[in-house]
Amino acid sequence: MESIYPSVFRLQHSAGSNGYALHQGDRVALVDPGLPNGSSRVLKELGDEGLLERVTDVLVTHSDLDHLGAAAAVQAATGATVWLGRADAEILEGKREPSTRFRRLLARRKAPSIRGPLQLLDGGEVPFPGVRAIATPGHTPGHMVFTFGEVVFAGDAVRGSDDGLRLMPGILTSDMREAKASLGLIAGLGARWLCPGHGRVRELRAA
Ligand SMILES: [Zn+2]
Repeated sequence: MESIYPSVFRLQHSAGSNGYALHQGDRVALVDPGLPNGSSRVLKELGDEGLLERVTDVLVTHSDLDHLGAAAAVQAATGATVWLGRADAEILEGKREPSTRFRRLLARRKAPSIRGPLQLLDGGEVPFPGVRAIATPGHTPGHMVFTFGEVVFAGDAVRGSDDGLRLMPGILTSDMREAKASLGLIAGLGARWLCPGHGRVRELRAA
C-alpha cells in the first residue's frame, strides 16, 4: 500500500477505481474497493498487510460498479458494514429511476448484492471514527464524499486537474446543477489532500 497521509493508504490492487484504506486504532475502513473482479486481489493485499481481520467498514462514495462492485466480496470475507448513500441504494433496489437515459443503461450493470449489514447515508454521519460523510449529489443522486483530517475522498464528485477541481464527464452526470453545487461545496471544505476515484492523489492549493 502507498502511504498518503497519516493513517491513510492507497490500495495497489483494486480494479477500476482508486481504493483507499484508513486505520483508526485496531480498525480499518476501506473506501471504494473497486470492481467485482478485483476483489480477490484486494483481499490478498489486505491479508498480506495483516489488515484483513481488522476491516470493520466499507465506505462507498456511490453505487457505480467500479466503486461499489467489490464491496459484497469484502463484506463476505470480513463481516464489515457497508455504507452507501440512500438515493443510490434506492436505485440499486429498483425503488428509484436513474435520471438520464445513459444512467438507466449503466444501472443494468448491477454490483453483487450487499447481503450483510448495510447502513444508508444522508450526509452528516460519522460512519467511522474521524470520518464525516458529506452529501455531494450530481454524478449520482446519493453520492457521498468522506473527509478524514485534511483528506477528502472524493469519489467521482470531482477530479483533480492542474488548475483545480473539475467535474467528471457530463454524460456520466445525473444532475449537472447539483454536480456544480457539490463541486463548490468540496472546494470550500478546505481539504489539503484530494483522494479522487480516478487519477492521482493531489495536494490542493489554498484558493
Ligand atoms: Zn462513478
